Amino acid sequence: MSAGCIFCRIIKGEIPSKNIFEDDDVLVFHDIHPIAPVHFLIVPKLHIESLASAKHSDQVLLGKMLLLAPKLATELGLEGFRTMINTGREGGQDVFHIHIHVFGGGANLPKT
Ligand code: AMP
Ligand code: ZN
Repeated sequence: MSAGCIFCRIIKGEIPSKNIFEDDDVLVFHDIHPIAPVHFLIVPKLHIESLASAKHSDQVLLGKMLLLAPKLATELGLEGFRTMINTGREGGQDVFHIHIHVFGGGANLPKT
């Protein structure tokens, strides 16, 4: 837990979220400002600031997060999806608690 971290506060239940999946390691919830018809975030319960600060000991957790993307996308009826991990200010990261964005649900996905 990191004081003041918005995702830690969501994980603690202090801020409401529209959850899709939860277990001991991970919370998945809909993004509050979706930029695709379906846009959810895969967030570890462990406070890791970013992909740049992830450690070798986080390897299993990161793999678990990645494998949740296709599983949950399928459960939500998506035929395809896009993943994104913003890293650092220059990488467009606003919330410094690592998360995987998953986008899907139509042809209007933002182009990169
Ligand atoms: P990033 O720019 O990669 O750090 O993405 C942070 C994401 O968190 C943005 O897409 C925000 O819309 C989303 N976000 C911020 N606050 C909340 C919240 N309270 N509930 C759900 N998503 C949020
Ligand atoms: Zn956090």
